[in-house]
Amino acid sequence: MNNASAAICAGPDTPLEIAEIAVAPPQDGEVLVEIVASGLCHTDLTALDGENASAVYPLIPGHEGAGRVIETGPGVKSLSEGDHVIPLYGPECGSCSMCRSQRTNLCWTIKKTRDKGVMPNGTSRFSRGGQTVHHFMGTSTLSRYTVVPEIALAKIRRDVPLDEICLFGCGVTTGVGAALQHIRPGDKVAVFGLGGIGINIIQGARIAGASQIIGIDLTETKEALATQYGMTHFVSATAGSDNPVEVIRELTSGGVDVAFECTGLISVMRQSFDCSVAGWGKSILLGVEPPAAEMAFPPVGVRYGKSIHGSYFGGIKGRSGLGKLIDLFVDGEIDLSGQISHQFPLSGVNEGFRLMRQGMSVRSIIRFE
Ligand SMILES: [Zn+2]
Ligand SMILES: [Zn+2]
Repeated sequence: MNNASAAICAGPDTPLEIAEIAVAPPQDGEVLVEIVASGLCHTDLTALDGENASAVYPLIPGHEGAGRVIETGPGVKSLSEGDHVIPLYGPECGSCSMCRSQRTNLCWTIKKTRDKGVMPNGTSRFSRGGQTVHHFMGTSTLSRYTVVPEIALAKIRRDVPLDEICLFGCGVTTGVGAALQHIRPGDKVAVFGLGGIGINIIQGARIAGASQIIGIDLTETKEALATQYGMTHFVSATAGSDNPVEVIRELTSGGVDVAFECTGLISVMRQSFDCSVAGWGKSILLGVEPPAAEMAFPPVGVRYGKSIHGSYFGGIKGRSGLGKLIDLFVDGEIDLSGQISHQFPLSGVNEGFRLMRQGMSVRSIIRFE
């Protein structure tokens, strides 16, 4: 049994508590990981606010971390002590029908237990004063020690600093991956919402060779960083501005080849459909909509060739595909500078989420060392 400092969410709408927890040893197919750093991401906020159907309280949030293997449980073959790893909220078992297909990066092998806040055998490895504390998204990276199934850990090269590349656990991979998956050289691209995901779609679009990269956001404070990352035009979506769809059509002489939606607002999803070009325009949905929301669109657009897609974790199969993205970072193609706007010790976690709520951070990371 190990003791560890962790951030605990006791229930919706309560501040996170920093407490010592007990972490039980890894069981069959599980791995004990020491987290070095963890980014704060918007999906954690949905658990803090009671808006996440997979949140079982009390829980330890966090799904954008990086760390080292401390101990492997029975049957673990692909990892050993000292390996550098990134926990994956989307695992890759390698043998299910989804993993065997090249059409998706989803793997639902352990989804049922993950969404109940427990390990695949139905129990939690975390406790506090004898009481069970639940896992969240199968990762719980806001704990110094966490236990993760082997199939949900991407082994990565050891020559990159773990504190920076924690962002590959969610934001960077989701954004850059989605761009590389959908953009062809010369494409005109629109990105709605320039937060942690949007900014990485912008740099993914630059890497993919897009000819025009239009960013749309409410706050002009995002403009400088987005420009540094490759944005060619900024469109303000504030009240009183012109309709962004009209502005984008004008800028692109008819519409974009690919539009990415990162806000989760149904009205903006519709805008992303409307600003894509007739014949082949694609609208890619990444933002998470409110529960039970539905979207309306004119079918004629689809009959004339437009399409709506989604993207999960950038379409990257975590265990087999993440290494290639990390290589792009080492080669200098993927830029992380300016993305980590704030750094805190674990005790600053509530402040980090406060900055996120107020739109004052790009990414805050929690450093354990
Ligand atoms: Zn995330
Ligand atoms: Zn699988």
